Amino acid sequence: MHVEPTVHAAERKVVQVPEPMLKAERVRKVYRTGSSDVVALEGLDLEVPAGQFLAVMGPSGSGKTTLLNCVSGLDEIDEGRVLVDGASIHELSDAARTRHRAESMGFIFQAFNLIPVFTATENVELPLLLAKVPEAEAKARARETLERVGLGHRLDNRPPELSGGEQQRVAVARALAVRPHLIWADEPTGNLDSEMAAAVMDLLCELHDEGLTLILVTHDPTVAARADRLITVRDGELVGDEALGTHRDVPEEANVA
Ligand code: ADP
Ligand code: MG
Repeated sequence: MHVEPTVHAAERKVVQVPEPMLKAERVRKVYRTGSSDVVALEGLDLEVPAGQFLAVMGPSGSGKTTLLNCVSGLDEIDEGRVLVDGASIHELSDAARTRHRAESMGFIFQAFNLIPVFTATENVELPLLLAKVPEAEAKARARETLERVGLGHRLDNRPPELSGGEQQRVAVARALAVRPHLIWADEPTGNLDSEMAAAVMDLLCELHDEGLTLILVTHDPTVAARADRLITVRDGELVGDEALGTHRDVPEEANVA
């Protein structure tokens, strides 16, 4: 069949302008405590394209965790809206939002948040079972994902038997098991020594190279330097937004020059 070249070009142009994976518009978050209100986010706008590795920095108390919790839909917002894959997540019912999150997002926290009496495999199986993946498949996928993060030899160990770096890799596997498009990480290297932190970051960068979108909060500039883009938050507002280019591909020795 013959297709007019002009029509073809026009169609292609439409296809080439994808919606950002994540779009936050004028997001406001107020914590209401007994005596005073804390405005933790004030009119935050943010767009994150699919496949980006975005680092979020800012002083303690500046609103980084609030940003992650509100923009991911873990927490409610007071004003504005957040679109993830085109869905306005805070307008979904609780059940629909939980399902959307379970199917498309993974979370990694500073304190690992693993269940201590469960084995590594059982910890990684959990989100799959919650997402109604049949048991045998959940187990197979948990093992496969643990192998992917280099823990094939620790499948049946419980968190107290693992090093901090290994525990965080279990947490990364747990976040990955549902095959999310988007991973949120809040200070994922905050409880690790520098060697373990580097190993966890190597893993996250590899996953990003494979196409995963990654939004990572950190106060460590060496961690942030590996991102594609760095935003800075202060007093609940975005005060900086810079492209980092390909820094993380440059060997450290080369950076010194
Ligand atoms: P960061 O992660 O950058 O350290 P947070 O997002 O945790 O900052 O906190 C931003 C501000 O909101 C801080 O002033 C903090 O004290 C306040 N805050 C955070 N969580 C709560 C809460 N649950 N109740 C009241 N205030 C809070
Ligand atoms: Mg925080």
